[in-house]
Amino acid sequence: MTTFQVSTANYAEAGSYLAGGVASSLRASMKPVPLYAESGKGSRIKDADGNEYIDYMLAYGPLILGHAHEGLTASIVEAMQKGYTYGIQHQGEIELARLLCEVLPCADKVSLSGSGTEAVMLALRLARAYTGKSKVIRFHGHYHGWSDSIFTSFPSADMKGHASSGSGSVLPGTNGQSESSLSDIILLPWNDPEVLESTLRERHAEIAAVITEPVMCNSGCIHPAPGYLELMRSLTKELGIVMIMDEVITGFRLAIGGAQERLGITPDLVTVGKALGGGIAISAVGGQEDIMKLIDGGTVSHLGTLNGNSVSTAAAIATIRELSKDNGAAYVQMERLTDKLTEGIRTLFAKHEVPAVVNQIGPVFNVMFTDEPEVIDFETYNKRDSAKYARFAELVLHEGVLLRPNGLWYLSAAHSESDIDGTLAAIDRVLPQLKS
Ligand code: PLP
Repeated sequence: MTTFQVSTANYAEAGSYLAGGVASSLRASMKPVPLYAESGKGSRIKDADGNEYIDYMLAYGPLILGHAHEGLTASIVEAMQKGYTYGIQHQGEIELARLLCEVLPCADKVSLSGSGTEAVMLALRLARAYTGKSKVIRFHGHYHGWSDSIFTSFPSADMKGHASSGSGSVLPGTNGQSESSLSDIILLPWNDPEVLESTLRERHAEIAAVITEPVMCNSGCIHPAPGYLELMRSLTKELGIVMIMDEVITGFRLAIGGAQERLGITPDLVTVGKALGGGIAISAVGGQEDIMKLIDGGTVSHLGTLNGNSVSTAAAIATIRELSKDNGAAYVQMERLTDKLTEGIRTLFAKHEVPAVVNQIGPVFNVMFTDEPEVIDFETYNKRDSAKYARFAELVLHEGVLLRPNGLWYLSAAHSESDIDGTLAAIDRVLPQLKS
């Protein structure tokens, strides 16, 4: 019997000192209690009670090489022993920037920050400075970090408040956010070519940027409809609007060049984070020369005390090198195992007569309990039974499998055939309990 006594006691103690009891609000939703980590190795994580799990949460995405990867750890330690941050420049920044320009199709130049949220803030600032316009189109169900100017409609929007034409009011994502912080946001349904085209044609004179997740990973892992991103690309080009692909999840996960490589669409700007550092905090904006050069001489300010610190650049260089080895063999392996896992999960849901949809792209997928035959937009996504999924996540936790409570699974290069077999066996055991 799995017990969580130490995690329970730690969480109670944390509540006395740490606001919210956790360091990032989402983590408090874990059931039966937010777990405390002891250590991790490869695909496995151990909690403070000594329970070991096959980890599909992977720290919300960054751990693409798994926990405590030897090569990555060695690079980090080597960088640390020389000094962890300098405040002046160092060779690692140049090496990483060159690598990023090589692998990211849209990047002539890059800029380094610490988190995905910061990268999105910079990309929006660049787009506004470049176009001299201020409005930004973003989409229902996408997530672009928690900064005031973009945080809305996530994780579950009140769809009634948001007119699909983009003329309705955009609701703040949290208390404490002023309504005016979102006055430049036009919120649209994703994957709807007519709404996109009519809005862009009518309002292009005031629109600086369209920001999109290339695959709607944050809400259902929904693929772009055929031709949708192509239309977005051609309209933004025609109308003088910057297209920003937010690849904080998909970057270095769907391919070394991210979704833009995999889907063959080159945006004007890209934001990457998470998997870039393999678990160490780093993010980047990449883009074409005429936009990125606005940072030259401080026309557009880009600041951050720890930007480009030598530990984060060493981690990112090592991660990119590792993922690039043997012509990207890690991607082939991750995808093969993810295919096996999702096929196995679908077969088990059918066997136990649990209605569900599994949407996948490469080594990331989303499991949703729903009577809908498919989940293809934010509306069908919102029909899923999230309470049932939270219960499922709790049941498999007792069987040694760690999942995010929201249905999103990640695989790492460290996951093995036996991890997949063990996970499928665990799911087979718990599904009868899910029905009761
Ligand atoms: N953009 C996307 C697509 C994300 O999924 C996230 C985080 O989940 C962010 C931006 C924000 O990144 P961070 O949490 O590193 O600030």
